[in-house]
Amino acid sequence: MKPWPFPYIVIATYNQNKWKQFQDLFGQEFAIEVKSLQDFPQQLPNIVEDQDTFEGNALKKAKTIAEAIQGPVIADDSGIVVPALGGAPGVYSARYAGEHATDEQNNHKLIEEIRSIPEQDRKAYYVCIMAFVVPPQTEMIVRGECHGVVIEEGRGTEGFGYDPIFYLPEEKATMAELPAERRYAISHRAKATKKLVQLLKSEYVF
Ligand code: IMP
Repeated sequence: MKPWPFPYIVIATYNQNKWKQFQDLFGQEFAIEVKSLQDFPQQLPNIVEDQDTFEGNALKKAKTIAEAIQGPVIADDSGIVVPALGGAPGVYSARYAGEHATDEQNNHKLIEEIRSIPEQDRKAYYVCIMAFVVPPQTEMIVRGECHGVVIEEGRGTEGFGYDPIFYLPEEKATMAELPAERRYAISHRAKATKKLVQLLKSEYVF
């Protein structure tokens, strides 16, 4: 075990919602500051998420930012996977229906695609990959998943993305029908964050 060498950790996002969720889960565990990219006014490199795996994209993002700031960085990549569709939408989740597609357009396309699949094969899962990088050579990767079923009729108004058509049999609700607290507790992002916390605890003394 080695001492944690920084007074902070950076989550590679400009999205304050993502940062806040992460801070809630991570900040409670360690007495270090959780920064977002908004804390770095200098020009940071623009990163194109062009890898064909979630791991590839998360690692590319974490490595690029960690190099630029010479500090510890966590980057994530997430999406929804439907095994019966060969893993689609997968890494293309945000742009499934086209480059600047809206959530509605993406949901519409996924509904169209699953119509030809028998109901028992409409299983899907959200994936979140988190990559942790400290230059020059520390790299760690964790994965969180949240399993459900794609349905044809959207339900609920909470959340974002595919949440209205992502049904969780155990919750008897779609992700978009769950209150924020429950959504965060069972999410792929929460699971990946908890795994990363455990991993960092096993490697570093905070
Ligand atoms: P990102 O990598 O977190 O930006 O997620 C990529 C895309 O995956 C999003 O634009 C959504 O379409 C989808 N996605 C990821 N996580 C979620 C979630 O928790 N709910 C709904 N959609 C999600």
